[in-house]
Amino acid sequence: MADPALTFDDLGLKPEILRAVNEIGYRTPTPIQAQAIPVVLMGRDMIGIAQTGTGKTAGFTLPMIEILSRGRARARMPRSLILEPTRELASQVAENFETYGKYDKLNYALLIGGTNMDEQIRKLDRGVDVLVATPGRMLDLFERGKVLLADVKILVIDEADRMLDMGFIPDIERIIGLLPPLRQTLLFSATMPPEIRRLAARFLSNPKEIAVSRPATTAETVDQRLVRVPMRDKRAALRALLRSEHPRNALVFCNRKRDVGIVCRSLQRHGFSAGQLHGDMVQSARQETLEGFKRGDPVVLVCSDVAARGIDIDQLSHVFNFDVPHHAEDYVHRIGRTGRAGRAGKSITLATPEEAKSLAAVERLIGRPIEPLAVDLGDDAGADSDEADEPRSGARRGHRSPQPAPRPPAEKKVERKEEPRRQAPPRRPEADSKPSRPRPAPRQEREDAPVIGLGDHVPAFLRPPKRKS
Ligand code: AMP
Repeated sequence: MADPALTFDDLGLKPEILRAVNEIGYRTPTPIQAQAIPVVLMGRDMIGIAQTGTGKTAGFTLPMIEILSRGRARARMPRSLILEPTRELASQVAENFETYGKYDKLNYALLIGGTNMDEQIRKLDRGVDVLVATPGRMLDLFERGKVLLADVKILVIDEADRMLDMGFIPDIERIIGLLPPLRQTLLFSATMPPEIRRLAARFLSNPKEIAVSRPATTAETVDQRLVRVPMRDKRAALRALLRSEHPRNALVFCNRKRDVGIVCRSLQRHGFSAGQLHGDMVQSARQETLEGFKRGDPVVLVCSDVAARGIDIDQLSHVFNFDVPHHAEDYVHRIGRTGRAGRAGKSITLATPEEAKSLAAVERLIGRPIEPLAVDLGDDAGADSDEADEPRSGARRGHRSPQPAPRPPAEKKVERKEEPRRQAPPRRPEADSKPSRPRPAPRQEREDAPVIGLGDHVPAFLRPPKRKS
């Protein structure tokens, strides 16, 4: 742990940066920040073994702003380059620069796939101090002559082990080959597999190595609880917990994409402020939902692991695991969304007897049993059985519209169609309607479709300039 008495003022950052940091509400540097910032300011190469959630982004963005504020960028020649494995991470890092650098006159550009690049290319033409990019897009624009890398003084390779998983190491090697040999290189990785060690040995010079404990072990800040519940009471249990816990904001994780919609609509029907995030959403809808969630509306965001990847919500009070994740590591990622940077958070996992194996794997991974939590369902017990969750009157039978109507009553029908996990006997196909032709598969059935779209946020500087009135 870093010295708890250490403040940002002790790290050698200039007043403009300290002011920005203070305004966001950070009081003390996290361990990775306390250790990394002085090293980066010294101009040394560095290996940071740290995961997201440790505050590592500010660990490199703050000192970079300090260093880069002394100098000017030339057209098409960025002075620093940050490589990120995903668009979401790239967007978040770019947004961090904007936030922390608000009192500095640095220029930033973001090069990621899936967005219109004209404005970013115009920025590059004018000269940028910080270029945040995914490797593929970076090489693409380099090959098209839109960017020159001969003036890059600082290179950051972030999430190197994820880059490795995603097959980006050859691209990174190519990019490094385009950079001047005299530069400062910072490499961050949650783990250090041999391939990353080799990469570091090849491209970093006498690096200082800093390791901070993974959120898996810093989870002391997360109060982890387990609610054992039969399948048919899961939604009722979630509602009871939301009522008793009063979360400021909560993510609810489902294992399957189709359940995201089911749980979300169920919560909405019961009067909760709930939204959903799933992989089929177009980028604009995804972004709108996330921004709303950050503002507090909706309070509850139901999501799948894939759709939630890269979400960075400050001060998330609760994480609910509507399902025990199939992969135990996902549990660590999920609950790591709360209790960040030393703040208190709570995670509650709902587990049915059928999920005992997955639960055992999670408890093995975290090295202890999750403390049980009792939940009182009251009259709500069993309320979500197949029968009870449907409209009660004739609406249930015979009024199926051939087109999915957007209004809530029609959504109930969609929800019913999508219920795949009930142990109830298989539905007789179309017993309650008279379909004359087969219906197309519901959209939600493409469960494993990849996330489409940019990701969490598009930083303000990527959006069209605000008109001054
Ligand atoms: P990161 O590991 O960079 O993804 O950061 C994790 C979260 O911690 C982000 O939501 C940051 O806004 C937050 N954070 C970073 N540094 C601090 C700090 N010194 N104090 C409190 N929160 C922080």
